[in-house]
Amino acid sequence: MTHVILVVEDNERNLKLLRDVLEYAGYDVRVARTGEDGISLAASEPPDLVLMDLQLPGIDGMEALRRLRGSPRTADIPVVAVTAQAMKQDRERALEAGFNGYIEKPISVRAFPDQVRGFLPDGQVGTE
Ligand code: MN
Repeated sequence: MTHVILVVEDNERNLKLLRDVLEYAGYDVRVARTGEDGISLAASEPPDLVLMDLQLPGIDGMEALRRLRGSPRTADIPVVAVTAQAMKQDRERALEAGFNGYIEKPISVRAFPDQVRGFLPDGQVGTE
């Protein structure tokens, strides 16, 4: 079964990289460039996993996560923060906010598919 991953990212270069790496790994990738669009996409066609940039135009990734969690249709979808904010405090903030996990940018092209797989409901934790 092909897993559907929704990538919410406003930077075109990052978005292309994430999409290319995930598609190459066999995932069905949907994209949104704002938190608002990500929320409506997730609600209309719930993905298996959301990869969420934290810094977005409009509402930020934290607020987008709150709204996803606040709707019964999207509340249980795993949401992983993908962000360049590599500070330890930001990582802790993201986990406290309820993200299922945290992947730092720049991503490791080699490790990324396994990292993502580890967050899928039926996934196996890969090597990092
Ligand atoms: Mn951004």
